[in-house]
Amino acid sequence: MRIFSGIQPTGRKHLGNHIGAIVQYVAGQDRGEALYCIVDLHALTVPFDPAELPSLVHDTAAILLAAGLDPDRCILFRQSDVREHTELTWLLTAVTAHGDLERMTQFKDKSAKQRELVSAGLFLYPVLMAADVLAYRAHEVPVGDDQRQHVELMRDIAIRFNARFGELLVVPEARIPTVGARIMDLQDPASKMSTTSAGEEGTIYVLDEPAQIERKLKRAVTDSGSGVRRAPDKPGISNLIDILAAVRGAEPAAIEREFADAGYGEFKAAVATAVIEYLAPVRERYDELRPDVARLEAILAAGAERARTIAAATLADVRAAMGVGAPR
Ligand code: ATP
Ligand code: MG
Repeated sequence: MRIFSGIQPTGRKHLGNHIGAIVQYVAGQDRGEALYCIVDLHALTVPFDPAELPSLVHDTAAILLAAGLDPDRCILFRQSDVREHTELTWLLTAVTAHGDLERMTQFKDKSAKQRELVSAGLFLYPVLMAADVLAYRAHEVPVGDDQRQHVELMRDIAIRFNARFGELLVVPEARIPTVGARIMDLQDPASKMSTTSAGEEGTIYVLDEPAQIERKLKRAVTDSGSGVRRAPDKPGISNLIDILAAVRGAEPAAIEREFADAGYGEFKAAVATAVIEYLAPVRERYDELRPDVARLEAILAAGAERARTIAAATLADVRAAMGVGAPR
């Protein structure tokens, strides 16, 4: 069983990334052959600073290692180090429907937020993501709920490719956590917590100091009512219940029972304590790992080497099946 997932080196990673994706990455190491990719090419789809990008990749690599990725048990690499991703992207555009890309909610959301340029890259983002996964013939893609639609699309792309050119690609499945698949912004619980949008105050970063985490959770937007329970008209409280459930590995219903008689203040304080404890070891290990850039680069280079071997074999098959290049 092969597992693949990608994570962007845009900005600092947050609690949603950690709960929705990174925890699943760590578990994947025991469930199959796991590949995790820091997708610097995806980061070029929105405004970015070329001078910063290399160090953002190092930040993300150190966060992943601090969370428990082990280069002896997974393949951790930087997307741009394996050129097969970009070549396969182009080849897959031949079996990708323009109309499907137009329907992607991430494209609609992110393009609406761009002030200057809506790049073609933002539109093609899901094809690059399909290439990331399909290049490794991965079976499973651990992601948060927001990526469900992109995994559906890559399945359609693989199915269309296989029907047209022969059964070469594996049609992957999304693996989405049952609790915490969509952590919402603390200040705007109608939007997901995000790396690239929204304000600082609504986002808990994995590397936040305890005092910052406490402040953000205490100021989290809730409704004017009372009662610690999930409801459509209580998106703020529902989100905090999900966060506490995910952090404790408990069911949201158990959290509701435990805090049935509690006020919002008491509940928020309990969430803050739990999140601070949960993230503290990651932040401590990050501080140890991040300064050794040479080691981070060595891990990424070794990962890219191993990844390239797998992706190159797929590319050779795909090129031949599509009649691209000299015949084999
Ligand atoms: P952006 O909003 O700019 O796309 P991001 O926060 O989604 O950034 P990514 O690197 O694109 O960060 O996502 C990495 C992983 O984290 C993906 O699997 C994504 O589904 C998951 N994820 C992102 N946001 C959340 C969230 N709020 N709750 C749960 N999982 C999330
Ligand atoms: Mg994202």
